[in-house]
Amino acid sequence: MDSEQLREYGHQMVDFVADYYKNIENYPVLSQVEPGYLVKLLPDAAPNQPESLQRVLDDVQSKILPGVTHWQSPNFYAYYPANSSVAGFLGEILSAGINMVGFSWITSPAATELEMIVLDWLGKLLKLPQEFLSSGHGGGVIQGSASEAVLVVLLAARDKTLRMVGKSALGKLVVYGSDQTHSALQKACQIAGIHPENCRLLKTDSSTDYALSPEIVSEAISHDISIGLIPFFLCGTVGTTSSATVDPLYSLAKIAKSNGMWFHVDAAYAGSACICPEYRKYLDGVEEADSFNMNAHKWFLTNFDCSALWVKDRNALIQSLSTNPEFLKNKASQANLVVDYKDWQIPLGRRFRSLKLWMVLRLYGVENLQNYLRNHIELARYFQVCVGQDPRFEALSGMYTLRLVVGAPLTERRHIDAAWKVLQDEAFTLLCSPLQENGNLPKSPPPIGFFGNGFKAEPLPQK
Ligand code: PLP
Repeated sequence: MDSEQLREYGHQMVDFVADYYKNIENYPVLSQVEPGYLVKLLPDAAPNQPESLQRVLDDVQSKILPGVTHWQSPNFYAYYPANSSVAGFLGEILSAGINMVGFSWITSPAATELEMIVLDWLGKLLKLPQEFLSSGHGGGVIQGSASEAVLVVLLAARDKTLRMVGKSALGKLVVYGSDQTHSALQKACQIAGIHPENCRLLKTDSSTDYALSPEIVSEAISHDISIGLIPFFLCGTVGTTSSATVDPLYSLAKIAKSNGMWFHVDAAYAGSACICPEYRKYLDGVEEADSFNMNAHKWFLTNFDCSALWVKDRNALIQSLSTNPEFLKNKASQANLVVDYKDWQIPLGRRFRSLKLWMVLRLYGVENLQNYLRNHIELARYFQVCVGQDPRFEALSGMYTLRLVVGAPLTERRHIDAAWKVLQDEAFTLLCSPLQENGNLPKSPPPIGFFGNGFKAEPLPQK
């Protein structure tokens, strides 16, 4: 690493990225390229001799950016937010600069200790119970994704149960979630060797706003026990991906507890909002959970990846995930004086991800972060008002529908207005054109359902 070259190239790169953000609204949000476009534009082998950074950046501008879907555009409303920020970006630079591999405390004590401290900070902001903090038997850990988070706790729960009932009972273990639970749960079951038929995605409907019904969960568990199966894991969600539904955590926790099951709360998408006192109520019941997860890389201004997971019993994780080969042994670990995060996750290696979360918390401060989240919620409400004022549209959830997610850091009211105009224009074209051709304009046209990504409109069935 030549530090003078780093200085020069680093400035050039920061300028490039800063210009990207300055002009981001000029790009079409959804990449317009065809599959395989890039192979036609780039050479088929790596260069023998070094090229200049400028040449590479020119290629980024002309060949890579056209193939980028601009998640940071203020006009991006698909999937879920994936925030970046100046603080998150700076944290990434620092982490890349130091570039240590912090799998054990000894491999970089600051990486482990900062992660523990920052997750305690965030845990306190979310008013998580004391047992989730590092001072007790639990603690927080940064995973790469919510999918990894649910996998590691599922493995911990599986092994805890198998230690009690015997390894041969693996085929009898049953997991419960809802048909709104993120597919990460199903994937975790596949990896953990849970029998495919034993991952119960219980039906939800509009009578509970698509939340998991405690009665249905209880019935399913009782039935499974009666046929000799072993319920061991229940996943509740705070903010489902498609409609931000909140499952009734208290009731679900009670059911899990009375059946000796692990209760995991997935708040990957919406959990950030719960740092605002007025939205903390959505986490009520998390006190009774065994694990809790929120993605700081979704809606908390922390560049990807940074998925925060807290557990009450860190030993359950460690018992499932630790290995202790000769080359990893060291005095601090042997003496049980330290946390070795390699035993809380799937990979061995790990980045210094806490730096960016620390930077976000320090450079913005809690009040600004709360106001940032409130502003998005306000913009989403504003959009709902727009929809409510046009009889051709209605706000609804749980069916094939237009879905507009407000959460990109640069989004302002004018972007919402622009998106709404696109939708209204599309509605006009869709609803009126064929009828106009027949000279037969409807007085009250049917409402329109939309899917957020790509703005493909499709009329909903008439009620
Ligand atoms: N859980 C919920 C509620 C989500 O919204 C998502 C992402 O959409 C996930 C889990 C999966 O997140 P990740 O991509 O971090 O695995």
